[in-house]
Parts: sequence; C-alpha cells; structure tokens
Amino acid sequence: MAQAVKGTRDLFGNEMKWFQKIEDTARRVFASHGYEEIRTPILEELEVFKRSVGESSDIVNKEMYEFVDKGGRHVVMRPENTAGVVRAMIQHKLLINNDPRLLYYIGPMFRYERMQAGRYRQFWQIGAESFGVASPESEAESLMMLFAFLRELGLKHLSLSINSVGTPECRPAFHEAIRAFFQAREAQFCEDCHRRIETNPLRVLDCKVPGCQVALEGHPLITEFLDEASQKHHDRLKALLTALDVPFEENPRLVRGLDYYTRTAFEVLSSDLGAQSALLGGGRYDGLVKHLGGPEVPAFGWAIGLDRLAMLMQQLHGDAPQSAPALLIPLGDAAALKALTLARDWWRMGLTLQLETRGVNLKKALTSANRQGTRFALLLGDGELEKGIVAAKDLQTGTQEEWPLNEVASRLRE
Ligand code: AMP
Repeated sequence: MAQAVKGTRDLFGNEMKWFQKIEDTARRVFASHGYEEIRTPILEELEVFKRSVGESSDIVNKEMYEFVDKGGRHVVMRPENTAGVVRAMIQHKLLINNDPRLLYYIGPMFRYERMQAGRYRQFWQIGAESFGVASPESEAESLMMLFAFLRELGLKHLSLSINSVGTPECRPAFHEAIRAFFQAREAQFCEDCHRRIETNPLRVLDCKVPGCQVALEGHPLITEFLDEASQKHHDRLKALLTALDVPFEENPRLVRGLDYYTRTAFEVLSSDLGAQSALLGGGRYDGLVKHLGGPEVPAFGWAIGLDRLAMLMQQLHGDAPQSAPALLIPLGDAAALKALTLARDWWRMGLTLQLETRGVNLKKALTSANRQGTRFALLLGDGELEKGIVAAKDLQTGTQEEWPLNEVASRLRE
C-alpha cells in the first residue's frame, strides 16, 4: 500500500484542528496589527535561495529539494519563505516608495533533513516580515505582535534570547578574531566547521555538534566588536523590551549566520518542546532586499514552526474542541425532510451542527455520535415532529430533555 513520502505526513483530526486554530489566531492577531497576508509560490528559482540563504548554509548545501523541470529550469521547493517574499516585493515593485510594508505568510516549507521528533521534511511556517523601517521600535512592535499571538494560544514557558550581530562593516574584525581562535584549536572542530571557518565563520557558532560547542568555550563574542550605532540600536531595543514587560535574555552566541543579517537576531525557545526546543527565530536583514536586486530597504522578520506549535497545543490543552457539538438525527422519511430544512435554517443562523443523512436507526446513529465525541444528539421522530420539538440527548451526562424547535439555537449557543 502506498505511504506518504518519508518526512511528510497527512494532517487530519486533532493535529489539523490545532493547525486551524493556530492559523485563525495568527490571521486575526496579525490583521489587527496591520499586517497583510502574502502567498508566494512553493517553487522558486534556485538562484533566489543561493543568493539569500547563502551557498555556505546547510539549507542550501544539503537540504534543498531541487530539480530541473521539464522546461529545463533549475527550481527549488522553498526551504523558507523570506527569500520568496522579498523576491515578490522586488518583482512587483512594492518597496520602491519606501513606505513601510507589513506582511505575513503561512505555508509549507521543504528541507531534506535528518528525521527526528518534531522535525519533518515538509513542515509549516508562519512568518511576519516588516519592510521599510530600521528602528528598534519596529522590532519591538513585531515582537509584541509575536507575543500577543503566542499569548492568545495560551503558550507559556517561553524564553526570548536576543543578540546583535552588528553590520557587515564591523564583522570582518570579528571574523578575524574567531578565525584566530579556531586555528588555535582546529583539531577539536568537526569537518563542517572547517568548511564554515573559510566560508562563513559566524556559522561555526551555530554548530550543533557537542564537541564543537565544547571547543567554542571562551570564544570571542560578536558583541565586543559592535560599532557604535549597532550598540546604540541594541541598547534601545533592550530598553524598549524592558519597558514593555517582555522578558528576554542576552545570548551573545546567537547568530543568524547569513551575511545580510544585521544587528538584531533572536530566538524563542519553549521548555515544553524537549530536544527541538527552538520554536522560532528571526532578526533584522537590512541587506537582503538590495542583495536580491531591489532597492535599499531595511527589514525585520521571523518564522515560527507550525508543526511544533501544534505539538505544544496538544501537550498543553489536550484534544482540540469538537468541531460540531450537535448531531441532528431524523427518524423516518417525514423527519428526514424536516431535518434538512431545520438544519439549513440553523446553519444560516451560524450554528454548528451535523446532520445524520444515512437513514440509519437510532442505535447506529448514537454509536457514531459517541465515537466522534458529539455532545448533543438531537432526535427528531414522528412524535417530536408533531409536538414541534427535538429530544436533546446529552451524550456526556446521558440525560434527555425536550427542546422546542425555536429554542434549539439559543440552547446550543449556551
Ligand atoms: P528556521 O527557518 O530554520 O529559522 O526555523 C524557524 C522555525 O521553523 C524553527 O524554530 C522550527 O520551529 C521550524 N522548523 C524549521 N525546520 C523544521 C523542520 N524540519 N521540521 C519542523 N519544523 C521546523
């Protein structure tokens, strides 16, 4: 029998319900902050990621689903969405007049990664990008929206780590210092780090190999190399977060190892997630729009893993609420027709209920309703039709009441 491709999975039942709840919450919270949704294609030209995520990154080096299509184009199934959003903004000339633009996206990403719990090859991200503003205030605004979103989902035990990675101007001195540090301990680092130290020394700090983490003890810190403006920017962001009661810690090892990243980098971890504790990451990327061929436009953004969010929701809140709390069960032909018109009216009134249309007997209908976790079975037989009521059976308590038809809506709403 055919199975879903390794690393991909079908979303249904509880997990799907949590996905929907998270997406609905994101759309509502982000819209209230003035963010607009953007959807870009899953397929992008290879160049888009080579030039943005960078050829020295693991994502581009090892993890991309890339192929040549029937027209001979070298395409990639996007491993992340920032590059695609920037590509779209440039293509449609949306950033030319320098007005701020606030955008969010929700969609699947693809990375050919080693399989682990909470790590998939097709996974989902929700991301927010703010274009056109270079101030720490815009970062505080974006982070406040992020935490409003996480709070609405009821998430706790989160910690925000922040750092500044400075600017391309102050990084060469840091690179030199880290290279010198590295060369003094070369043998202790993994093979990938030997490559990284040549192509992008910041990435050595990101290495997850335990031996490399040990070897990194006492390494030079990027924060010691910040230029004055970056230092000021960083101090201002910290002051804003403190004033806004957003707790954070400083992590001078936290780097987004891409050349176009500037100043603020951050991560949110959840202690409820176990080994894969990173829930989201983001930062300022003032150089990217220009780097991809657009105007010089500062930007700040982040991406959160929907799969991990859904996992947290399941852990914290258990099963998602039943989608239809009531099932209308007609008994007999006359009731079947009446049930259709009643259901239509109730649906038009915005009620959530399901209709039993199989024409099965009461026992079968109730067994299915119980299996699906339905709260109320609304029974409609000839007797009920005559009296203008439904017999409402509470499947949790087993009690039964008569509800006049014109009261069903208000009682279900209760
Ligand atoms: P990144 O784009 O690598 O900064 O990742 C941002 C967030 O996306 C992470 O913190 C995770 O929550 C999520 N994420 C990244 N890769 C995966 C994956 N392979 N499977 C599930 N979630 C992922």
